Amino acid sequence: MAASRNLASFRLPPLPTVGELIKLYNLRAEKQLSQNFLLDLKLTDKIVRQSGNLRQAHVCEVGPGPGGLTRSILNAGAADLLVVEKDARFIPGLKLLSEAAPGRLRIVHGDILTYRIDRGFPAHISKRWEEDPPNFHIIGNLPFSVSTPLIIKWLENMANRTGPFVYGRTQLTLTFQKEVAERLTASTGSKQRSRLSIMAQYLSTVRNCFTIPGRAFVPKPEVDVGVVHFTPLVQPQIQHPFKLVEKVVRNIFQFRRKHCHRGIEKLFPEACRIELTQEMMQKADVDPTLRPAELTIPHIRALVDAYAHLCTHEPSLLSYEFREELGVKQLARKRNAPMDTATGM
Ligand code: SAM
Repeated sequence: MAASRNLASFRLPPLPTVGELIKLYNLRAEKQLSQNFLLDLKLTDKIVRQSGNLRQAHVCEVGPGPGGLTRSILNAGAADLLVVEKDARFIPGLKLLSEAAPGRLRIVHGDILTYRIDRGFPAHISKRWEEDPPNFHIIGNLPFSVSTPLIIKWLENMANRTGPFVYGRTQLTLTFQKEVAERLTASTGSKQRSRLSIMAQYLSTVRNCFTIPGRAFVPKPEVDVGVVHFTPLVQPQIQHPFKLVEKVVRNIFQFRRKHCHRGIEKLFPEACRIELTQEMMQKADVDPTLRPAELTIPHIRALVDAYAHLCTHEPSLLSYEFREELGVKQLARKRNAPMDTATGM
C-alpha cells in the first residue's frame, strides 16, 4: 500500500499525449536524424523495465525526441533524468515535461557523440568498479545512424572506465536494428557471431531483451528493432588494451568464411607472415582450421595473449596494418612503379 502510494507520487500529472504533442509542435520525423518515434507508453514502459528498478535513479536518456520513453523513465521513479537531444524542435515539448516533473528533468540540446556524460552527474553517485552497479543508467531509443559508432565508443569507455563508466559499472539499455542486436548477443557458432559479439561480450553481460516490430514506430522503419541490456563485467574476459583486442578481432573476422588463421596471418608483414602465424597459433593452442564464428572468448583471449607476447619481442608489429600495406601496394601498382621491398613503397 505504502509502496503504491510512493510510486504514485513519481507519476506525471495529466499531459497531452505524445501524439498530441507531435501535432501541437508540428514535429515531422526527420529521416536524416533517423527519427522513428514510439507513441505507445506500454511499450516504452516495457523498455524501461529492462533497466531494473529506477526508483531514485540518475538516468541519461539518448535522443528523447517527443518524449515517450522520457515519460516512462519519470513514471518509473527516476529522481534525476538528463536527456540529450540533437534536434532543437523537441526542446519546447521536453520543457513541458520538465515543468510537469519539477527538478527531475534536465534538458541538454547537444550531440550524444560529443556530450561529456562524465561531467553530467554528481560524483557521489559513483560506486567502485568491484561493487554492484551504481544507481545510474543510460537508456535510449537510439537513432540507427549513430547506434553502432556510439556502442563501439562506449565499449571502449567501458574498457577504460571513462565516459559513462567513471561512475562504476553503469548499465545500458539501448535499442538497435534487430540485426545489430543479434550480432551483439550472438553466441559461439551462430550465424550472427561477429566482431561486435566479441567486443561486447568480453567486456559485459549482454542480454537481447525483446524485439519491437517496425510497425510499432511512427514512421515505420524498414527493419525491426531489438532492445539490448549491457552490464559491464567486474573482470573483463580479456585483460589487454581495448585497441589491441580490437585489432586482433578485426583481423580474425575479416575473412568470415575462411579458416581463422587466414585473418590472423594479416597481423604480420609478408616477410614473416607464415612463421609468426604458426608461432601465434601454437602458443595460443587454437586449431587454425576453426572458422572465426567458431572461436570462443577464451580462444580469442589466448590469441590476443599470444599476439601481445609476440609484440613485446617485436614492438614494430603493433603498428603494422595489413590494409595500409595493401593500399600502398595498390597505389604503386596503379602508378606502375617498381616497388622497393625494403620500404614497402
Ligand atoms: N526517444 C524517442 C522515441 O522513442 O520516440 C525518439 C527516438 S528517435 C529513433 C531518435 C532520436 O534521437 C530523435 O529524437 C533524434 O533527433 C535524436 N538524435 C539523433 N541523433 C542524435 C545525436 N547524435 N545526439 C542526440 N540525439 C540524437
